[in-house]
Amino acid sequence: MIDHHATQEDFDSLHMMLQLLQTVDVGVLSVDREYQVYMWNSFMENHSGIHTNRARGCNLFDLFPELPAAWLKHKIDSVFRLQIRAYSDWKQQPHLFRFRSSQPLTGKSELMFQNITMIPLSRADKVVSRVCLLIHDVTDIATSKLALQQANKRLTCLSRTDRLTGLNNRGYWEECLHKELLRCQRGKVASLILFDIDHFKPVNDRLGHQAGDEVLRHISEIIQDSGRQTDIIGRYGGEEFGIILPDTSADKALIVAERLRRRIADARIDCGSETVRITVSLGICEYHEDLSGHHHWLELADRALYCAKRDGRNRSCLYDPEDQSCDTIQPG
Ligand code: GH3
Ligand code: MG
Ligand code: MG
Repeated sequence: MIDHHATQEDFDSLHMMLQLLQTVDVGVLSVDREYQVYMWNSFMENHSGIHTNRARGCNLFDLFPELPAAWLKHKIDSVFRLQIRAYSDWKQQPHLFRFRSSQPLTGKSELMFQNITMIPLSRADKVVSRVCLLIHDVTDIATSKLALQQANKRLTCLSRTDRLTGLNNRGYWEECLHKELLRCQRGKVASLILFDIDHFKPVNDRLGHQAGDEVLRHISEIIQDSGRQTDIIGRYGGEEFGIILPDTSADKALIVAERLRRRIADARIDCGSETVRITVSLGICEYHEDLSGHHHWLELADRALYCAKRDGRNRSCLYDPEDQSCDTIQPG
């Protein structure tokens, strides 16, 4: 028996539900097991530019050839099979449907970021015959989250970087040295070079602090150009620098130090009014088991550096842990 009043009510409810579906600010579409489109609301129409009449009955992957078909089919199939929801997060698939962002000017993104929920839809007899995709525009959240991540990255970078030279600053560089020491305690080899500009004070006194800064920048560039990718360079103090050389024994570190010393000595640094020539003195210390910590390591490299200064400057000096002495290398 059909109750006409109830049918009218059902019809009205359905009508209202369809209005809701059309106006809601979420993309709604449904597909069958062959990915043929059934439901297609105004959100989909507006953002894809594909009219409902064209979308209906079409294969979803013909409508959007750029969709990652294998991935999405796998998702949709699992919803049919397991009859539970599946999700796609903007972090894994930022723009599954390549819709333009609704606020490209303020939104800072050309494309709409999307979270997508896939829901099993069952008929009255409970057989799941469609999967519905709900497409949520999360461009605002995604862009602000990405902007925040970028700002944090920049902050981290700033907090680790020396302003003048762009090298690692002392705090971060010492952290790296500490980590390297821990690595060495687990059986790795590494060396440390500390070096200091010779007679730098007269450069400042004669040419001014600005010219002194220019020298520091220039020397930083030479260090960066001379090293390997894995070397960790830091500005340890005013005109003192440190280089951590992972997987490098003392004899190899000495070769690096001597090459750097010669490069710096050969450089002619343009400081506006004058061309400056500069030398450096270097202290080298390889990791050894007697080291009590990274401060101790620094202390021994500094001791070698002091010996290089004492023995005439513009030279390298190696700390020898065997007899706890320093051997200054005569510059060749
Ligand atoms: P030595 O060969 O014994 O190392 O002599 P030195 O003149 O280099 O040594 P000293 O420690 O007496 O002088 C270091 C100078 O480095 C003093 C300081 O003005 C200068 N200095 C430190 N930091 C900076 C900086 O950031 N910019 C400039 N321009 N100079 C700096
Ligand atoms: Mg100095
Ligand atoms: Mg100094």
